[in-house]
Amino acid sequence: MNKHKVLVTGGAGFIGSEFVKQIIKKKYTVVVADKITYAGDLERLREVKGQYKFYKQDLYNKKQLEKVVEEERPSHLVHFAAESHVDRSIIDAGAFIKTNVFGTQVLLDITKKYPIERFIHISTDEVYGDIDEGESHENTPLNPSSPYSASKAAADLLVKSYIRTHNIPAIIVRPSNNYGPWQYPEKFIPVVIYKALKNEKIPVYAQGQNVREWLYVSDCAHAIVTIMENGKLGEVYNIGSGIEKKNLDVVENILKKTKKPLDLIEFVKDRPGHDYRYRLNSLKIKNELHWNAKIDFENGIHQTIAWYEENMKWLGNKVTYLESYWKNVYKSNELSASGKISKS
Ligand code: NAD
Repeated sequence: MNKHKVLVTGGAGFIGSEFVKQIIKKKYTVVVADKITYAGDLERLREVKGQYKFYKQDLYNKKQLEKVVEEERPSHLVHFAAESHVDRSIIDAGAFIKTNVFGTQVLLDITKKYPIERFIHISTDEVYGDIDEGESHENTPLNPSSPYSASKAAADLLVKSYIRTHNIPAIIVRPSNNYGPWQYPEKFIPVVIYKALKNEKIPVYAQGQNVREWLYVSDCAHAIVTIMENGKLGEVYNIGSGIEKKNLDVVENILKKTKKPLDLIEFVKDRPGHDYRYRLNSLKIKNELHWNAKIDFENGIHQTIAWYEENMKWLGNKVTYLESYWKNVYKSNELSASGKISKS
C-alpha cells in the first residue's frame, strides 16, 4: 500500500479540484474518480494535468469502483462526489439519493474489503438545518430541510454507523457555503456575478434576507487537508469562516464592485423550504488543529469576480446549458406568496 496515495471522489468538482491541486503541491500521489456529471469538469485541473491519475467513474458502479481501489490501493480516501445543488434536489431528488446515499454506502463497503488509513467524508453545514440565532456545533442534532441536505445527513449517519459497527477509520467534515473561482454558475455567487457582468436581471429569492456563512474555496480545501493529515478518527469537524452575510448584501456588494445598478436585482418567488440562516461553531478545528480561514470576504469576492471576468468563455459555455433550467427554477417577478421572509 502506498503510504501517501489519496483517492479523491468528485475531484473534478468545484471544491474537490481545489483540494486536488493543494495536495499535489504537497507531493501526495493523487487518483481522481469522478463521473463528470454536468457539474464536473477536468478543465478545473488543467494546471496539474499529467500530475494525477483519472478514472471516469460513477460511484454507483460498485464493481468498477472496486477494481479502481483494488488496483490503486490508496492509503486515504477523500469523498467529495455528490449531487450538490439544492434547487435540483427540489425538482427531482432521485439522483441525490443515488449518489449521495447509495454512492457513499458503496464506498464504505469497498473500504471494508480494501482497508485504508483514513476516510474523509465531506458533508455540509446544511445537515443541521437553519437556526435563527446562535451556532451549530458538531454535536447539534441533524435537522435537514431540503432533499439535498437530507441525502447528505443520511450519508453522515451511514458513515457514523460504519465507524461504530465496522471500525472504518472515518472523519466527517461539515463546511459552510463555499465561493471562489471555478464554481458552477448555478450556485448563488457565480449566478450573481455572471448576470451582473452581462447586465441581466439578477434573481434573488424572496427579499434576500437569508443568511449564509461564506468560506473561500482555498480556505475550505486547506481545512480539509489539515483534517486529512491531523484530524482525530471518528470525529466530526465543522469548517466555517465566521463571515455571515445576508444574500441581499452579497448581491449589492457584487453590483458595487462591478459598477452595475441596483435595479438589476429582481426578487423572485422563494425557494420552497428555504433555510433562513446557517452558522457553524468552528472552534474545534481552530483550537485542536490550528486552522483559520485566511481570506476575508472583501478580498475573496474581489478575487472571485476577477477570475470570472477573465474566464467569461468557460462561464458562458456553462450558462448556455443552464438557460432553460433557470426558466424552470426562477419564476420571475413573483414574490413569495406570503410576502414574508421564509424562516423554514
Ligand atoms: P460540485 O457539484 O462542484 O462537484 C461534485 C463532483 O462530484 C462533480 O465533479 C461531479 O462530476 C461528481 N459526481 C457527482 N455524482 C457522481 C457520481 N455518481 N459518481 C462520481 N462522481 C460524481 O460540488 P462541490 O460544490 O465541489 O461540493 C463538493 C462536496 O462538498 C459535496 O459533497 C458537497 O455536498 C459538499 N459541500 C459543498 C459546499 C459548497 O458550498 N459548494 C458546502 C459544503 C459542503
